[in-house]
Amino acid sequence: MCPAPAALLCARLVAWFDARRRDLPWRTNRTAYRVWLAEVMLQQTRVAVVSDYFLRFVARFPDVKDLAAASEDEVLSLWSGLGYYARGRNMHKAAQAVARDHGGVFPSTSAELLGLPGIGSYTAAAVASLAFGERVAVLDGNVARVLARLCDDDTPIDTPVGKQRFTQTAQQLVDAHPSSAAINEGLMELGALVCTPKSPSCGACPWATSCAGRARAHLLPVKAKKQPRKHVRVACVVLRDEGGRVWLERRQSGGLFGGLWEPPGVVIEATSDVEGGWRQALSDRGMAVPSSFPAPIVVERSLTHRELRFEITVVTSSSSPSTAGQWFGHGEIKAVGTSTAVRSLLGAASGLRLL
Ligand code: SF4
Repeated sequence: MCPAPAALLCARLVAWFDARRRDLPWRTNRTAYRVWLAEVMLQQTRVAVVSDYFLRFVARFPDVKDLAAASEDEVLSLWSGLGYYARGRNMHKAAQAVARDHGGVFPSTSAELLGLPGIGSYTAAAVASLAFGERVAVLDGNVARVLARLCDDDTPIDTPVGKQRFTQTAQQLVDAHPSSAAINEGLMELGALVCTPKSPSCGACPWATSCAGRARAHLLPVKAKKQPRKHVRVACVVLRDEGGRVWLERRQSGGLFGGLWEPPGVVIEATSDVEGGWRQALSDRGMAVPSSFPAPIVVERSLTHRELRFEITVVTSSSSPSTAGQWFGHGEIKAVGTSTAVRSLLGAASGLRLL
């Protein structure tokens, strides 16, 4: 429950948003396609990073039909570096569904949008509200944090009960103002610029005089206990031919890094001998196994739920592996989907500048 009349909070929020809103590329020439693209990219990625990707995407795919007609490889290569590749693949599938099932026009309600691949309640509400004015609240991490502080509410924001509770509070605000877009966007902007996770600028906040949790903002929001990250160790072989091309294989669709290209590798136990993994990766592909290997090149990457450790060896070969895959020159690697982890390990192992 809001600690002050919802209409008053809305008026202050919207006045602040009108004066302070950032000039972001997806806020001009607003269409459902542009709102959707930006919201998909912004999930767990910083605005500064997303701006460049967004501009590249809309330059290459000005319309949802252009995105639908592209190959998955091209989409994933433009997506490379944004992480969460399932989002990139689902984005492509959703564009194809809009082109195929809706004549290239985005559905205008959150209920219909929820039927598209990869669109959950957050994205559906954001597109329906910001592009079509549906009176539906948008709850993301920023909004939940602001509302937990405003209401001095200890309900963990990442639990079903917390999501329901803070969605209700957000909906109270949306219901109290003529523009759902202004409230939703204003709340997200307030969370991004003022009521930030570590050091909220309460002195600059339009809700400073009404905020129930201001004095203990540093303790809010409460989150349920996080699962520890899983550690994954990979024995990786960067195979090069005599012309310097690199052998890459495509992962199956679905799962971590699904559909992306990567060098041969084997997941090994924490205590295993890495050379055994390299031998297995080579012999599985019918390749000659060297009698000895130099010390591994190590590249580590942190993902949200995993710590990846690649232990890499480089092998030059005049023959091709017997399994499915392809030799790629430097320029060709940039044109297909690869994860940031793979681009950094190829850079470390063979001097290719791919990042
Ligand atoms: S007063 Fe401070 S804690 Fe309260 S909503 Fe504003 S920035 Fe957040």
